Amino acid sequence: MGEILSDFNELKPKTSEQILNMDSIHKLLKEKGIESKQRHTWSNTTKTQKVQPLEYVKPRSLNDLVDIVKIAELYNYKVRCLGSSLSFSDVAITNDILLSTHGINKTLPLERELIKETVDRETLYRVECGIRICDLNKILEKEGLALPNMGGYTAQTIVGVTSTSTHGTGITLPPLSDLIEAMEVVGENGQVYRIESSEGISDPEKYQKEHPEIKLIQNDDWFNSVRVSMGSTGLVYSVVLRVMKSYFLSETRSYAKWEDAKDLMREGTVFKENRHFEVIVNPYKVFGNYYCIIYTMNIVENPKRTHVIRGWRRILPEIMASIPFAHAILIFFLNLLPKMTPTFLNSALKALIDTNYINKSYKVLDLGAANKISAYSAEIGFPMNNETYIKAADKIIEMAELNRKNGNVFQTSPFAMRFVKASECYLSMTYGYDTCMIEMPLVNGTQGGLEILERYENAMYEFSGRPHWGQVNHVSGNHGFIKKMYPMYEKWQKIFNEFNQKGTFVNKFTDRCGFSLQGPFEKPEEKGNT
Ligand SMILES: Cc1cc2nc3c(=O)[nH]c(=O)nc-3n(C[C@H](O)[C@H](O)[C@H](O)COP(=O)(O)OP(=O)(O)OC[C@H]3O[C@@H](n4cnc5c(N)ncnc54)[C@H](O)[C@@H]3O)c2cc1C
Repeated sequence: MGEILSDFNELKPKTSEQILNMDSIHKLLKEKGIESKQRHTWSNTTKTQKVQPLEYVKPRSLNDLVDIVKIAELYNYKVRCLGSSLSFSDVAITNDILLSTHGINKTLPLERELIKETVDRETLYRVECGIRICDLNKILEKEGLALPNMGGYTAQTIVGVTSTSTHGTGITLPPLSDLIEAMEVVGENGQVYRIESSEGISDPEKYQKEHPEIKLIQNDDWFNSVRVSMGSTGLVYSVVLRVMKSYFLSETRSYAKWEDAKDLMREGTVFKENRHFEVIVNPYKVFGNYYCIIYTMNIVENPKRTHVIRGWRRILPEIMASIPFAHAILIFFLNLLPKMTPTFLNSALKALIDTNYINKSYKVLDLGAANKISAYSAEIGFPMNNETYIKAADKIIEMAELNRKNGNVFQTSPFAMRFVKASECYLSMTYGYDTCMIEMPLVNGTQGGLEILERYENAMYEFSGRPHWGQVNHVSGNHGFIKKMYPMYEKWQKIFNEFNQKGTFVNKFTDRCGFSLQGPFEKPEEKGNT
């Protein structure tokens, strides 16, 4: 590891002309053997964000990350990592130095000998930041292991999902960020940190002896801040995850009236009896009622057989998703005949009905065909107490109906209610309490789509809503808004300040949230092993 902290002087430009030369950064990157393009046009997958950064860089190692930070700081440029560019919001963008992390995607040795003997090492797994969830699932499977939970999609990178606190559903299962037990992060000046909880998994003495150049921090404030920090507290090189032995899931999808689904949720047994529980709701009344699909998924021990596809009813959406231009045809049809949207959505719901689909956990948790439809969404988290989340869902239905009556604008997809265990990460949407996350997707090209989502978001604050950082949101730092939403915000801000004494990891997103405009910076406490 010693060679990663390469001599800073080595990188300094030799003459003042070089300092003024726009190409200096490019040249320095080349000298270090780091692949880079100047003014490459980047956009996220849904084309809701677009930038032409000074450098679009493809690092391949921890050394590369260290060098990139040092080179950027020579010219006071900002640095930001991309995962798989799937976030709809501005969390992953910068005009300065934008990093694709797809080349940093290997599994890493756990270094068992440095882990405390009291810690269960069998289900700890260490990977580089840019490994995609779909690739990780296959690697884990070969080792008889699996992720305890995941979102409905698998193309994201592991640190892409943990940084925005991406979640699945299951009230005993927290977001993916909470699977992290340790992380290695490159901060300002190229300093590498290993960050763990106060009770961290590493034996501090053994770890520091083996890695004197890395600063081990075992401190809850650092750990709970950096795990969910939307790319703003350094470049995450690797994470150690707590996974589990591989398992099978059985999934059932049943069609129900929304009123009946609400009664089930109020009564509460569904949350206790099912490892995963989800409700997908058509916000429009058809045939005199509102309808929904109820998903349940549970572990099955040693199933006699597994299914290849999710039953014959799923064939229609699978075929739809595989037809080129199916999405364009769909949105053309919905925009041409918007009044057909409610019945179309109901048919789509019915196409999801299925019983007892059994397969490996990650195959069942992946939504499959639905992910192939080009769409964007807003998603908001609500506390589970006092039925707040049910009131919020009813408000969405009321607003969808109003939009239909007043503006002839339609929500082009059902909304989903997923249930997530409280997170320990200070800026996770599920911090502090079990949360119902309500996602409102719209097919790309929906008339008035972004306006619909903004209206929902504004109305949802009345229900203590916390918007998903990676999805469409307009959260701002004005009037202590974020501070009111997140009780541990001030502690998070101190850690952000520590990582941004030169402002290396700020961007437009941190500006709009007011994170990068704080100061004078106050040093966070460094209790524990530092
Ligand atoms: C089809 C689809 C399905 C989705 N399903 C779900 C779901 O089921 N549940 C859910 O909660 N969300 C879901 N999302 C949202 C998505 O999971 C998040 O927006 C996620 O953060 C995207 O991951 P990514 O790998 O694309 O990262 P990006 O969007 O590229 O980046 C996300 C953040 O991570 C940071 N980052 C990435 N790598 C690093 C690194 N190495 N170091 C520091 N920072 C880093 C970026 O700077 C950025 O702030 C879905 C989105 C889509 C498009």
